[in-house]
Amino acid sequence: MKKGDGPPMNALADRQDNFRAPLDPYGAVTHEVFNQPVELAEYNLFDSDIALKEAVRREGASWASDALGAFGARAGSAEFLELGTLANKNPPELDSHDRYGRRADLIRFHPSYHALMKASIEDGLHSSPWTDPGEGAHVARAARSYMHTEVEAGHGCPITMTFAATPCLKLQEDLAAQWLPKIQARVYDPRNIPAEQKQGVTIGMAMTEKQGGSDVRANTTRAIPVGADGPGRAYELVGHKFFVSAPMCDAFLVLAQAPGGLSCFLVPRWRPDGTKNPLQIIRLKRKMGNVSNASSETELRGALGWMVGPEGRGVATIIEMVAMTRFDCMIGSSAGMRMAVSQAIDHCRQRKAFGAFLIDQPLMTAVLADLAIEAEAALTLTMRIARALDHRDDGHEDALVRLGSAIGKYWICKRTPGHAYEALECLGGSGVMEDSPMPRLYREAPVNAIWEGSGNVQCLDIARAIQRSPQTLEAYLAEVSSVKGESAALDTHVAALKDDLRELADFDSRARDVCDRLAVGLQAAALFRAASPVAQAFCRSRLETRGAHNYGALTGVDAKAIVKRAAPR
Ligand SMILES: Cc1cc2nc3c(=O)[nH]c(=O)nc-3n(C[C@H](O)[C@H](O)[C@H](O)COP(=O)(O)OP(=O)(O)OC[C@H]3O[C@@H](n4cnc5c(N)ncnc54)[C@H](O)[C@@H]3O)c2cc1C
Repeated sequence: MKKGDGPPMNALADRQDNFRAPLDPYGAVTHEVFNQPVELAEYNLFDSDIALKEAVRREGASWASDALGAFGARAGSAEFLELGTLANKNPPELDSHDRYGRRADLIRFHPSYHALMKASIEDGLHSSPWTDPGEGAHVARAARSYMHTEVEAGHGCPITMTFAATPCLKLQEDLAAQWLPKIQARVYDPRNIPAEQKQGVTIGMAMTEKQGGSDVRANTTRAIPVGADGPGRAYELVGHKFFVSAPMCDAFLVLAQAPGGLSCFLVPRWRPDGTKNPLQIIRLKRKMGNVSNASSETELRGALGWMVGPEGRGVATIIEMVAMTRFDCMIGSSAGMRMAVSQAIDHCRQRKAFGAFLIDQPLMTAVLADLAIEAEAALTLTMRIARALDHRDDGHEDALVRLGSAIGKYWICKRTPGHAYEALECLGGSGVMEDSPMPRLYREAPVNAIWEGSGNVQCLDIARAIQRSPQTLEAYLAEVSSVKGESAALDTHVAALKDDLRELADFDSRARDVCDRLAVGLQAAALFRAASPVAQAFCRSRLETRGAHNYGALTGVDAKAIVKRAAPR
């Protein structure tokens, strides 16, 4: 045979036949997949969550347990969990114009996103405590919202803003009468058409501008009265907003400078005459997390809006909304922690290394237990504040909402990124892979800490609350003192805090330190009040540490029992 010639075809076929014969016993199988977990799905997010079930019962929403259990089964189904994955794999897209060049400002979402929105709105996550107030109303909603967020966090943004718009709009009776029935309706209608043609609408919020997000008083967007001025009157808004999440909402609460100072306005996407309101979406943000949720940059080119609340009192008006969105950040970050713990424990109970399941290896047991303690502390404080929201007619509870939600928003959101990272590491290399839920939890984790008041801004808000409304500190101290004697470490912690809070002159520069300690004290008290089996372990690991606290630095606690309590199945 000449060089370069291949074997004759029939010879090649013979050779292949000959090769195939000895490989037959194995076929194409190169190896068996073993020691890899079965995916966490088809479990009940409510029934399997002991701390959540206890919180619902304890904080006044036992009546909702059956419905929450039914929802927990649905939320934990493989099909529902997959909605969360798909909504983030297929990010929203902006069509600024239609194909003929007309302004459209249309956001296209994957059907999975719409399915999540529909489920949330039909479940009343945007309205139930307002439409059906009473014992446990906020608690039941918080529990349901927590499970929704375990599945997917991004769609929670417009749900939260719609929920939080009610207390703000109530400050302007005429607008409230017109809008609240549709805002609170359990109807999801994503069409880009005037609100007048819809049964249900969603609401966004636009405060942040390029030159200032925390410092909204730096807003330069102008509001010019169309005719008569003042609350409830029409204005035209000219300016920009650097962050407008969920820009497909039907209307937005917007801050702008009226002649009498920074004021709040309700700006719909469409004018009452059926033409598009020039609240124009310039582009969608490219975000590291929160991918399913569209966040945009917009320009207001004479957009029509109506003043909500008194002129010049825009911050005081919109703060009614912000207070509720901050509470939802507590729910959202607690839920992120819960899902991270569930994933970590479920992985480690199925994965072996060095001859034993990871969950049984003492060092891993300690890490998992510590992650579970953090998650339970976050949930317990969140549900304590939910209860307080249900009892705002009580002075103590009302003051606790003011300070406790500021502390909780700051602390729980701040703890979440580190928690997500440590949980991710429990899965080893698989935790970094995009086809696991861990990268999504990790990238989502910093978002709640930033919006609705970033860390320092929250600390300054806590300082402001204590200085201007001393009853909030009294409520805090009453709350932590109610469990006096449960833990010597907590008693010492509270005594030192009291000492440090006697002098408030230089509070701003000390605020991080003081707020961290306020938060840990409040979480410890919430856990003891709840008679949680992790309360002592929380105090031991958070109040008696000898160095910086890293997850897993647990000693002298029953880590196995804590992990068993937190296991999702
Ligand atoms: C995903 C996403 C979606 C968003 N969606 C919306 C939306 O729908 N509507 C909306 O209005 N906004 C939205 N925002 C904007 C968000 O609310 C702001 O980013 C946030 O308030 C911080 O403002 P900033 O980005 O201008 O940062 P800055 O205000 O410049 O703050 C930067 C840092 O400085 C700190 N800081 C500020 N003031 C002080 C001080 N006095 N002392 C010490 N430290 C200080 C802050 O804590 C922060 O860490 C969104 C943001 C994100 C990330």
